Order: sequence, then C-alpha cells, then structure tokens
Amino acid sequence: MLQSFREVLGKGKSTITDSSITKEYTCKGCNSQVKEFTTVIALGPMAGEKVTSKIGCNCKLYEQIKQEQKEADKARMKRIFDDNSLINKSLKKANFKNFEQDRFPVAYKTAADYVRNFDLADPANLFFQGPFGTGKSHLSVSISKALVALGYSSIFISLPRLYTKIRSTYNKDSEMAEDQLMQALFKVDLLVLDDIGAEGETKGWSIGKAFEIIDQRSGKHNIYTTNLSSDDFESSRDTARLFSRIMENTEPVIMNGTDYRKRRFLKAGEQHV
Ligand SMILES: [Zn+2]
Repeated sequence: MLQSFREVLGKGKSTITDSSITKEYTCKGCNSQVKEFTTVIALGPMAGEKVTSKIGCNCKLYEQIKQEQKEADKARMKRIFDDNSLINKSLKKANFKNFEQDRFPVAYKTAADYVRNFDLADPANLFFQGPFGTGKSHLSVSISKALVALGYSSIFISLPRLYTKIRSTYNKDSEMAEDQLMQALFKVDLLVLDDIGAEGETKGWSIGKAFEIIDQRSGKHNIYTTNLSSDDFESSRDTARLFSRIMENTEPVIMNGTDYRKRRFLKAGEQHV
C-alpha cells in the first residue's frame, strides 16, 4: 500500500513534517524545468521555520562547465601566444633597461610615458616607424612587458608570423579555429602588431586581415611598428588605406639613424652616419 510522503516522514526520525511543491517554472538561466519545495522544519533550534529548496535547475553546473571552459581557453591561448613562433628570439630579453635610450631619447620617453599613462578608459596608439634595426620592436616589447607586469593583458605579435598562425588554423588538425585566435587579439588590453607591411604581406588576403584586426581594435590600445616609409604606404591604394586607418588616434614615433643592432659592433671613434 502506498504511503504518503508525509506519513513516511512522520514515522521516521526526520525533522521534516511538511514538504510541498510551491512553485514550478522554467529557469531563465538554464532553461530547465524547476520545482521549488517549501519545507517546514519540525524539530531543533529552527523548528517551525520554512526552508525553500529547488530541484531541476542546472545553472550551477553550467556555470562550472563554463568556468572550466574559460580556464582551458586561457591555458590554450597562453600556449599559443607564448609560442616561440610569434616573437623573434632576439626580442625575448628586450626590456626598457637594456634599450639604448641615449640614441633615441624621444622614442624612449614616449614609450615610457605610454606605460605611465596607460588607462583602459582612454585608449591611445603608437606607431613606431623607421628602418630595420632601430629598436622599434625592442621598445614595443618593453611596453608590452611593462604593462603585463602591471596586470594588463598584452599580446606582442609579428604580423607575418601572425599570418602564418592564422593560415595554420585552416588546417583541419589545428588546435584552434581562426575565430578563437582573432577573438584573443580583439580582447587583449594592448595589442602590438610588429612589422606591418613586411615583404609579401601587402596585398589581398594579408591586408584584409590587417584591416579586420585594426577595425576590431578600434577604441582599444594598439602599437604598430613598420619599416615602411610613408611613401611606401602611399605606393598602393590598399596600403595607403591601411596607413590612414592606422594613423587614426595614433602618435607617430619616428626612429631613424644607424642600425640599432649593428651599433654595438662599431669600434670606438667610428662615426654613426
Ligand atoms: Zn537554472
């Protein structure tokens, strides 16, 4: 013979005397059907008090899965952006301390001020322009590292290497989809795009990707470096358009002069031209 829930509870040692469904609804958070019970406690210090509990809601579980997913994404991003393929070996140790600030005092000060004034609510861009080896990338890496030390997120990425990375996501065995890679670039507090307009990367698909990234980064902090002169940019319609897009809300930092990396090899008394 069937006994009612209340009868069973009444015969046992349970402290509960009354329990009934007081509400049934679809949870807005997880879209599951939820039953809410109200229970009156019979014994003990809480006797007579009503306690509500619910079954069927999966919000907590979904939140936990989401959190785990987020952690996994973060770990994967870290693997991908810490990957040796995205930064030149010579830049790994670059920082403000080992930059030759006497040669480029204005550029150095601009970079240091950029870190000092960094404010997520007030985005600003820098554009380091100059011939190969003047320390543009060195200063950009220094800024990126200094901001990470301050708790911001930053990605420094050589544009040609990024293109290779994006292309590799088209491979069906790729660990990540292009969209995930791009989302990471869009979200980060500071993005450094190193070596814009590198050889062979000034046309069609490449320039389209550069546009896409720069468009999505509008209203955020960005640093660009390039070996190209302004005339080089003006030489084609695509690069001219890219250049004018880059220069929106951007402070140019011109770094001319002797090759920064060759300098240490000059003997005493030799002149820099
Ligand atoms: Zn729910």
